[in-house]
Amino acid sequence: MKLILASNNKNKLREIQEMLSPIGYEVISQSQAGIEIEAEENGSTFEENAAIKADAIYGMTHTAVIADDSGLEVDALGGAPGIYSARYAPKGQGKKTLLANLEGVPDDKRTARFVCVICFISPDGEKHYFRGECEGKIGYECIGENGFGYDPIFMYGDRSFAQLSPEEKNAVSHRSMAIIKLREYLEAADKGGNA
Ligand code: IMP
Repeated sequence: MKLILASNNKNKLREIQEMLSPIGYEVISQSQAGIEIEAEENGSTFEENAAIKADAIYGMTHTAVIADDSGLEVDALGGAPGIYSARYAPKGQGKKTLLANLEGVPDDKRTARFVCVICFISPDGEKHYFRGECEGKIGYECIGENGFGYDPIFMYGDRSFAQLSPEEKNAVSHRSMAIIKLREYLEAADKGGNA
């Protein structure tokens, strides 16, 4: 079955393709599907934002669609930046802003998690959600060269996400966990013959 990913992000596309092509799904980006829209992410949860992105494409194609929304929740900041992770600070300032907002917060109160929610819309329009989370702590400075976004300040054990190889990150990341749940659902639905 063909699945349209409501994104043009090459890394997301590759990661999802790698996990779904072995079970017979062809995943294409929205631009490969000839769609050039960008839905306004004005929901108040990861689920709502993922659904907004998926709905926008489903409304145009009526074929199977997946969309994801992700972010970083910091407990000492009441869950911020959360769904606002990409817009928390001017471009390139997110990590610095977060570290400044956690100044003086002791180690045991620096708990945080990356969250990813995938919304899948089946060809008949039914929505299903898959949530992946990865627990860690916010460090005190940027460490490591890999990854993107908040990876250099997100401590997973004694290393930051930016110190992990792509394979190591994929083995534990919020996005991988959500994709694994989606894959399990699709495999089960295929066996039942209703996906
Ligand atoms: P979106 O899901 O593409 O809207 O991105 C949400 C934002 O959350 C990104 O721009 C990053 O700032 C942050 N984020 C999501 N996943 C990760 C990750 O794996 N590492 C670092 N930052 C992330």
